[in-house]
Amino acid sequence: MGEIRYPLSINQATTREQWSLPEAIEGYARQDVRGIAIWRDKLAECGVEKARKRLADHGMTVTGLCRGGMFPAADAAGRQAAIDDNRRAIEEAVGVGASCLVLVCGGLPEGSKDLAGAREMVQDGIAAILPEARAAGIPLAIEALHPMYAADRNCINTIGQANDLCDTLGEGVGIAVDVYHLWWDPDLEGEIGRAGRAPGTRLLAFHICDWLVPTKDLLLDRGMMGDGVIDIPAIRGWMERAGYEGSAEVEIFSTRWWAADPDDVVAACIARHRTVC
Ligand code: ZN
Repeated sequence: MGEIRYPLSINQATTREQWSLPEAIEGYARQDVRGIAIWRDKLAECGVEKARKRLADHGMTVTGLCRGGMFPAADAAGRQAAIDDNRRAIEEAVGVGASCLVLVCGGLPEGSKDLAGAREMVQDGIAAILPEARAAGIPLAIEALHPMYAADRNCINTIGQANDLCDTLGEGVGIAVDVYHLWWDPDLEGEIGRAGRAPGTRLLAFHICDWLVPTKDLLLDRGMMGDGVIDIPAIRGWMERAGYEGSAEVEIFSTRWWAADPDDVVAACIARHRTVC
């Protein structure tokens, strides 16, 4: 099997402090990066119609809309509000032609210690929006987050859990593999392979950045590929063998990169994608 270099996409979180959505589209395209993942708050500022036109003008592929999820809530009204918001997210994903809606599933409801219950709420929430997602042709990409986020952001913490959810929920649900969240998992290779063997297209996105040593802030100190300890080519090889055919999406939340000239950030993404990914 020949080596695939996945096309480069940049998740706009990487330049979120510097650029609006139209600026990010133009800035990425200016250096011939034709993939972007879009955040809903930035999309709301811009408007779906204008975004769609700018994306088309620049020949951009939208590798994901971030984000849906956040299903667990303390009461039924809260859970319903989350489901309603996810339905709006599916419509927005259609509006910008996103290849998937990324789900950051949500943590414990306020005051709760019932982790198993929260995980059940996640499964129920995804099941509730799945008919709309299927009808719209928008795959739902479960993104497992590092267990340090289990309480406040996402109680789905391993790709094994994500695969289990996909098995239960069936067609229309898949996985976003983010190396920052999953690189440490001894089962990662096996679970990527499991996703590849599942019916349909389960591997929906491949998010890349690096784990710095030391990491000074667990949310806002992600590294540029090559600056940390993640063996990205090894994980990319597992994705290849599992049949993943999407993009390599750079997603870096970093106060240091947010302080940089965004054109330099894009140039660094391109250079590192060529040399270390
Ligand atoms: Zn990610």
